[in-house]
Amino acid sequence: MPAPQCSSCHAARAALRRPRSGQALCGACFCTAFEAEVLHTVQAGRLLPPGAVVAVGASGGKDSTVLAHVLRELAPRLGVSLRLVAVDEGIGGYRDAALAAVRRQAALWDLPLTVVAYADLFGGWTMDAVARSTAGSGRSRACCTFCGVLRRRALEEGARLVGATHIVTGHNADDMAETVLMNFLRGDAGRLARGGGLGSRGEGGALPRCRPLQLASQKEVVLYAHFRRLDYFSEECVYAPEAFRGHARHLLKLLEAARPSAALDLVHSAERLALAPAARRALCQACALLDGLQRGRPRLAIGKGRDEEGPPPPPETRARPRTPGCEGGGAGAGTPGCEGGGGGGRDP
Ligand code: SF4
Repeated sequence: MPAPQCSSCHAARAALRRPRSGQALCGACFCTAFEAEVLHTVQAGRLLPPGAVVAVGASGGKDSTVLAHVLRELAPRLGVSLRLVAVDEGIGGYRDAALAAVRRQAALWDLPLTVVAYADLFGGWTMDAVARSTAGSGRSRACCTFCGVLRRRALEEGARLVGATHIVTGHNADDMAETVLMNFLRGDAGRLARGGGLGSRGEGGALPRCRPLQLASQKEVVLYAHFRRLDYFSEECVYAPEAFRGHARHLLKLLEAARPSAALDLVHSAERLALAPAARRALCQACALLDGLQRGRPRLAIGKGRDEEGPPPPPETRARPRTPGCEGGGAGAGTPGCEGGGGGGRDP
């Protein structure tokens, strides 16, 4: 049976049915509609004011690639300028190839690119070093939780380095729904409280962050990349297979089979929860994690306001680490821009 006509231009054959609406569109009309929806998300939510210098968290994966491409298309209408900021977590056999994809995008789209590395920002700690230090313990399964907190801090520093006024990350609706499920399953009210809306306004001295693709499904992000022929990196991070996010992803697929709107429903449900904000801490989450790593007592309860390690540690023998820009508080709660497949703490 021949494909139906595109219901928008009525000229070309439809190349897809939009997963949620069922609308039949050709590739060109789908891409136009996708871009218009992102524009509406940004303008209706007043996410990026004219004149903003926007740091795009770029990982080389599909989400951040689509985000950078769409915002580059929309930048003249929004009146914003873009900078790509990539984070090198120090993951052998994975991140170098992903960064190569970011460099190709920066050159192709003529966008300035800055790469910041965990090793430089966090006293020599790379993700491989964190994984070695936690190997053999239950914490070795939580690499993504450590990575997420550190990446959030690294992206903040990279954005400040390039003079950005705002940070955008490529989270889509599926990512956000998985995060909501994970936080529920972990009983992490602190992260649930922080996770609502399309971003944060920049509390505690942090730059404002937003997620312009938060209302777009993963399927449509992939379709957009396909029809725009975008070059992105799609391999899974070496630490992803053990991530808790995989369980949430599986659960979400089961839910979507019974209720196609489950992802967006979950995101909206979390937004409507009335939760007390988490208490401020003396150290930000990145510093608290590094503190634990340096003592050989890595802490995992980073989002809950309690320490799973039991009694307090002995008196310090060295200064507590401070990540650049740490002012204490909760500015470190998530995994912006991880497209490595895990993203255990991938919060907003
Ligand atoms: Fe970090 Fe993402 Fe890899 Fe997890 S999957 S270790 S969050 S890069």
